[in-house]
Amino acid sequence: MGKIQVMPKVMADQIAAGEVVARPASCVKELVENSLDAGATRIEVSLAEGGIACVTVTDDGEGMSPEDALLAFHRHATSKVREPRDLARIRTLGFRGEALAAIASVARVRLITRARGEESGVLVRVEGGEMHPPEPIGAPFGTTLEVRDLFFNTPARLKYLRSPQTEQARSLEVVQRESLAHPEVAFVCKTERQVLFQTPGRGDAREVWAALYGVGEARMLLEIEGAAGDCALRGYVGRPTQARSSRQHGYLFINGRPVRNPAIQQAVERAYGERLMVGRYPVYALYLEMDPALIDPNVHPQKWEVRLSEERDVCVLVESAVRAALDSVMLTAVPRVRTSPRLGSPVPLPLPEEPERLRSAPQDSPLAARRDESSYRPARKLLPLGQGAGPDVAPKEAWASALAVRESAGAPEGSAEIEPKADGADGVHETPQERPADWQLRPIGQALRMYILAEDGNDLYIIDQHAAHERVLYEDLLDAWQRGDVQPMPLLAPLELSLAPSAFEEVMARRDELLALGFEIDPFGAHTAVVRTIPDSWQGLDYAALLRDALDDVASMGPKATARDIMHRLATRACKAAIKAHDTLTLPEMEALCRRLTRARDPYHCPHGRPVFVRMSERDLAKSFRRIV
Ligand code: ADP
Ligand code: MG
Repeated sequence: MGKIQVMPKVMADQIAAGEVVARPASCVKELVENSLDAGATRIEVSLAEGGIACVTVTDDGEGMSPEDALLAFHRHATSKVREPRDLARIRTLGFRGEALAAIASVARVRLITRARGEESGVLVRVEGGEMHPPEPIGAPFGTTLEVRDLFFNTPARLKYLRSPQTEQARSLEVVQRESLAHPEVAFVCKTERQVLFQTPGRGDAREVWAALYGVGEARMLLEIEGAAGDCALRGYVGRPTQARSSRQHGYLFINGRPVRNPAIQQAVERAYGERLMVGRYPVYALYLEMDPALIDPNVHPQKWEVRLSEERDVCVLVESAVRAALDSVMLTAVPRVRTSPRLGSPVPLPLPEEPERLRSAPQDSPLAARRDESSYRPARKLLPLGQGAGPDVAPKEAWASALAVRESAGAPEGSAEIEPKADGADGVHETPQERPADWQLRPIGQALRMYILAEDGNDLYIIDQHAAHERVLYEDLLDAWQRGDVQPMPLLAPLELSLAPSAFEEVMARRDELLALGFEIDPFGAHTAVVRTIPDSWQGLDYAALLRDALDDVASMGPKATARDIMHRLATRACKAAIKAHDTLTLPEMEALCRRLTRARDPYHCPHGRPVFVRMSERDLAKSFRRIV
């Protein structure tokens, strides 16, 4: 007799489950995607013990007939594709007909569902792949799937689960990502004790961002849009100051599916270019819509990765749209003009000098009359931003009022107004402005030995001298390197640096790249490097200390770092040598720095992403002094 047997169905399902269902979060993903495919407008995810004890997903989608409710648990049973041709035009998130069979083979599952038009609902119970007869049950329209005791019959897999907190965090992350992918659906994610996260489901991705990161962050996002061929792009990108230290906050959705795609991610990062320093990554939510024929979602068990047949074109589209959004705004830090909130009772102070516009109005004109009621009005009431996302505040109203402010804050005129408090953590608020065509900063003097005061036309600038010098040095270094215009300058006494053995190897492996940047480095003994030349732009810097750190950096970047990464890292290092706070500057020094700053590619941020200056218009000042309201 032969030895080969066809596996029993349950065993085959369990094996398949290994690919699809790794942990509670994978159940959450599959169930939520089923709910989305069923056209749900509201999806609730409940987690008991981080989902290890139970994951329940309830939706108000189309539901299933009793027959379908039974079929749904069969492997390769799907309502989403019928013939091979359909695979090339998948619009739904699911299509393999695998998830429910897989989940039901390794857990105790209860399905309660009722399709529109059905008299009542049906309950189907499957435990470790064994199905109980269906029972009628009273139920609202839609579907509830309850997955209890995941891996109760596969102890080896159970062992791989982490603590309930960790599993809960992963499930929550799945819900958050799906809710950003589908702002039109209201999501709730909760435990027995509390609501962890919820979204209003009004189709506004900015509202979802607000639920994730706070209203202040959401308001600062820049909108992007673009199209090329069969592909449309829209979404939001963060300003350079919103960048984070990991890539985790960049979200990509293709036809409503959250996916990872390194090439597109790099395209976004290229668009930011020097606006970000090494080690900082942009935040974004990009929505690509394209002909399903161009996508193969069937290359990854959890469909996390997709293959795009026109990836290059898509990357070009993404890069140019993101760059356009970043270029279109001049990011100027504007200080928030905070006036006393207790200025409630009108005090008839005489205004010694009134702004031109008001003074020239005849005393009996309507304008003059209006002035009296308006000029001493109490400060505009501030909205309690950042408090709206708490679970006990009705979220819709809170979001609506909080986000309403962003409309006015975005307008150039609004920049001078009293700003709500939930702005960037650094206490300044960035407003899109045109960069003045003929921008000249005329220094008036130095304040607190840290700031250069300068004026231009009707604006007063307070410039952080250290940040400004860093920016200028950084661009000079990069420019010289990029032009290939590097003059290696021989050191009179070559510099010996002893490095850790692994660092030594890394640095020696990069000798050619370092040489192109002006550093001639030779090995000397087991792990000592001899530096013979430095680029001439490093002249005058305290290069000995800098080089030691810089070479450590190069070593720690690993073999994947590109020459460009190395260049950026070295430039960022060199910036450390910039003039410091508390250095006294002469007027000519300030003039030189200001002149150079106005020509910088990005005069608004230092290489670390902090603002270089704050600007106050004459109008802002007049408002602070209540000369105008
Ligand atoms: P797939 O999603 O790949 O089709 P699944 O095993 O996830 O496979 O689901 C099998 C089928 O069960 C789906 O094709 C769908 O018809 C039905 N189904 C699953 N979940 C739901 C739901 N929440 N609402 C309505 N129908 C559902
Ligand atoms: Mg599915």
